[in-house]
Amino acid sequence: MAKRVESPSSINTFKQCKRKYYYQYVEKLPTFPSIHTVRGNIAHSALEDFYDIDLSQVNEQNYSNKFKVAIQKLLMHHWQQYQPKLKSLDLNKDQESFYFEETMMMLMNWTNQFVDSVAKTMQEKNIPIQEAFLQLSPIREQEYTSDNYSVRGFIDAIHQVDDQAQIIDYKTNSRFDMKDSIKLQLAIYSLLYFEKHGTMPSKVGIFFLRHKLKFMDVDEELLNLARTEIELIHAHTSITEKIHDYPKSPSPLCKWGNGQCDFYDVCKPHEK
Ligand code: SF4
Repeated sequence: MAKRVESPSSINTFKQCKRKYYYQYVEKLPTFPSIHTVRGNIAHSALEDFYDIDLSQVNEQNYSNKFKVAIQKLLMHHWQQYQPKLKSLDLNKDQESFYFEETMMMLMNWTNQFVDSVAKTMQEKNIPIQEAFLQLSPIREQEYTSDNYSVRGFIDAIHQVDDQAQIIDYKTNSRFDMKDSIKLQLAIYSLLYFEKHGTMPSKVGIFFLRHKLKFMDVDEELLNLARTEIELIHAHTSITEKIHDYPKSPSPLCKWGNGQCDFYDVCKPHEK
C-alpha cells in the first residue's frame, strides 16, 4: 500500500483518535465547518493580505492609524467573502456579530503589536516606515512538501531576522499554551524547512491572536520528535485500511458543551 501524504493536522488527528483519522482520511467522510474554523480562515486571509496594503499614503506620523484602518477593512472584506460559509453555520445575528467583534479584537491586538515592532525597527535601524514595513513582512502561506517523509504543510509566515528564519503560525485559540499538538505541528514545519533549505529555522512559534507571539527554539530534539511521529503514522496507515485497525478513543473531544466530533453520529463512541 502506498504511503499517504500526511500533514500536521492528519498526524494530530491520528494521535488523538485513530477512528477519527479513519473516517476523515481513509473513508473521507465529510467534515463540517464551525464558526471557529471559518473565522480562523478569515483572520488568516486578512493577515495575509495586510502585507500587500498600499503604503503610498503612509508616513511616520500616521502609520499606526493607517494600519488599524487597513486591518479593519480587510476583516470586513473577508467576512463578506465568507458570507456563504457563515450562512451555512446557521448563526443568529447576535452570534455572528459576537464572532465578528471578537475576531476584530484579535486582529487589532495583532496590529497594535505590529505597530510597536515597526516603531522599534524604525528607531533601531534609523530607516523610514516603508523600509521597516518591508523588513517585517514575512513570506506568506508557503507550501512545503517532502517526498522523503511523505508529509506536507502550509506555513503561515516565515520571517528573516538577522539572516535566520523564524516560522510563525497564527492561532485564534483561547488558550495561550503550547500544547503537544501545537508543538508537533511546529516540529513538522521545522523538519520540512530543514529538509528544503539545509538549515534549521532559528525559532518557531505561534502568534496567539488573543494574546501575543510565543516562540520555541528549534533543535535536533524537536526535529526528531517530528521524524518519530511521521514514522509511526506511516508504519500504521501504509499497512492497513481496515476500520477495526483504527480503534475509537472516546474522550471529552467526542462531545462537549456546544459541539461534537464531526463523526460522532456515525461513530457512536460509547457503543461496543
Ligand atoms: S466520536 Fe470520539 S471516538 Fe468517535 S471518532 Fe470522534 S473522537 Fe473518535
